[in-house]
Amino acid sequence: MKKLLLLLLFSALYKQSFCWGFFAHQRINYYAVFLLPPEMMVFYKPNIQFISDHAVDPDKRRYAVAAEAPRHYIDIDNYGQYPWKELPVKYEEAIKKYSEDTILANGIVPWWIQIMQQRLTNAFKQKDAAKILKLSAEIGHYIADSHVPLHVNSNHDGQTTNQKGIHGFWESRVPELLAEKQFDFMIGKAAYIPDIQKYVWDRVRESGAASDTVLKDEAMLTKQFSSDTKYSFEERNGKIARQYSSAFTIAYNKMLDGMVERRMRLAISSVASFWYTAWVNAGQPNLKNIKKTAFTQEDLKEFENLNNAWRDNVIKGRLP
Ligand SMILES: [Zn+2]
Repeated sequence: MKKLLLLLLFSALYKQSFCWGFFAHQRINYYAVFLLPPEMMVFYKPNIQFISDHAVDPDKRRYAVAAEAPRHYIDIDNYGQYPWKELPVKYEEAIKKYSEDTILANGIVPWWIQIMQQRLTNAFKQKDAAKILKLSAEIGHYIADSHVPLHVNSNHDGQTTNQKGIHGFWESRVPELLAEKQFDFMIGKAAYIPDIQKYVWDRVRESGAASDTVLKDEAMLTKQFSSDTKYSFEERNGKIARQYSSAFTIAYNKMLDGMVERRMRLAISSVASFWYTAWVNAGQPNLKNIKKTAFTQEDLKEFENLNNAWRDNVIKGRLP
């Protein structure tokens, strides 16, 4: 009975833990708003609640749409060694070389971000407030995912190295425990990105390169902890659950020498810079008069469907 209970607790924890965790995604979009110039702030600030809340829509969509999952990651180690120059950066060339099935199976986050950026730029051109908000919230999610080392490694949850759970540990447990108390979110200003394709691939390569350290350090630290000090029953989101202990989490963060904070800060800065770049490329439309947002019936239905699919809790495609 006790075993069953533990298993249930652990699978509940496991289910929640993918993609920076809801907490970090929402914080990343939230803080990104403050990096924008006043001409954009005038529109984003009154809508900051929406931009933060809907940062997690792409994760909810994974429960509803099978094609969603590959948009969140790329198993770049399946294409050889760092810096993975064999893999063409252009989608058409990549599928020509490896087949579309292979490319989709290994994940498409760097290409998907560029598609979303095009859509956001068009929304700015059309001055469509609802679209701008939806796309800003959602592109923030994919950009943030591309900054997570374990979103750029086929051993994404330590499944081949007996480190299951490490995915949520790095991107949910560490920021949830430490971000508000210790991380510094004073981050300069959004900057124009002259070459989106290069920028996306630079971040992805950094993440891929860091993923080894993420895995190795956890394995090394595990040797210094007994299993009942590595894990503990502690409160999370108002519930007591078995999870990585505070002591283990703090030690891991120290061992990584601030990597989680650095990637989170960079994610915030990247998200703001993508929004800013889309706005500039659309000709800097005046956002003062589009403060009022009218979501279509279709939008509202989609939000509801996403929430229902998420509550039903059956994920389509791979986890995490
Ligand atoms: Zn995600």
